[in-house]
Amino acid sequence: MKYSKIIFLSLLFFSSLAFAGGEGDWEGMGGELFTYRRNPWFVKNVQTVNYCVQIDASSFSATPDTVREVIKESIKYWKTEFTGSSRSGPGFANLATQDFVEVALCDQADLQFKMGYSTLTPKEVEFLKDPTHYIGVSVRKTYDEVNMKGTGFIYISSDKGPHAYPQNNENILPEAWRYKKLLNYALIHELGHVFGVPHTGSGIMSEVFLDQLLTKRFSGFYQANPIEKFLRPPEKFQVCSLNGFFHPGFFKVDFDTKCLLFEAVDSDKLHWNISYVKDGSTSAVFLGYLKATNMQMTEFALKPSVVIKLPEGQAVYSNQDRLYTNNFMMGPVFADRSTQGIYVNSAASQRPYKIFMDVKPDGMTVMANVDGKLINVLKYFRPSLLNKVLPVQMPE
Ligand SMILES: [Zn+2]
Repeated sequence: MKYSKIIFLSLLFFSSLAFAGGEGDWEGMGGELFTYRRNPWFVKNVQTVNYCVQIDASSFSATPDTVREVIKESIKYWKTEFTGSSRSGPGFANLATQDFVEVALCDQADLQFKMGYSTLTPKEVEFLKDPTHYIGVSVRKTYDEVNMKGTGFIYISSDKGPHAYPQNNENILPEAWRYKKLLNYALIHELGHVFGVPHTGSGIMSEVFLDQLLTKRFSGFYQANPIEKFLRPPEKFQVCSLNGFFHPGFFKVDFDTKCLLFEAVDSDKLHWNISYVKDGSTSAVFLGYLKATNMQMTEFALKPSVVIKLPEGQAVYSNQDRLYTNNFMMGPVFADRSTQGIYVNSAASQRPYKIFMDVKPDGMTVMANVDGKLINVLKYFRPSLLNKVLPVQMPE
């Protein structure tokens, strides 16, 4: 491993273990192909999860109070994400429904938060090989196949001292845990694995997310913006040249318009107010709105964020809980909808223009008829390392 340079799109660290074996029943979360290795550690039969917190204060920049606060916020993040995204009925499972309670003794904990190198046991160090290669990692140590319950730990790397992730790299932010939001993101990512979410997409659960998070040119973005949603579209977003494009002619904005700002009017994210910002200006001017019109045409793609594999002898999900005799359950689903709608420009003619919109957690596409052709008039991608490196070009 060389730390002299970060090469974009290559994996320098691994935010999660991609190997397992040689250490009894321990499972790194992520990368495995087999059976229920990625199952959530806790499902509906578990009411309370006891967790403990260990901090290597000399090598960890966040204070114990901040660590505890951020752990609670990260648990709450997933509870909020999953609430309202879980379907009921056969085949679906709710997740993160447990009460999380901190206990003093780690041998009584189902989940251990280990902050910094010296919190690791020799066996854990041996399993991780070289903990400085991780920013964070979640390791499931035991799994009870009958009760479908796991135990294990989340490790967050030291950010100072000899066992920290590399501190003198020109591209990597040193002492990252001085910034609460970055620690929050790291914990959200690892807790996602505890709740069974695999690496997916370009956002917080992407395989390279933690690498992005601590990349200097990128960490500022994460610090400055609200914590990214996972299952649902954002409340608001802006489309500028780095994260999408818009068709000025269709939206009837001047060609020196720098960004379009979208703000959801409804919680379903099917009605958006739009403003624009011109080059050299910081003030947003109201432009109009996009709204779904034909609700029958709204499609909800059923894309689960978590798939739970049922072990042979499990005693948690009955035949009634399951869909047919499937040997898996589906966790919370991504809000992913396509619908017909209208665009109304309040300053211009007020005439509604027909559109098709596709709204997802990580982006939005709007299509409309322009000069007799159905084309993309808006494309928004949630900012990620990819479109920082390869800016989206306006199509010809
Ligand atoms: Zn991961």
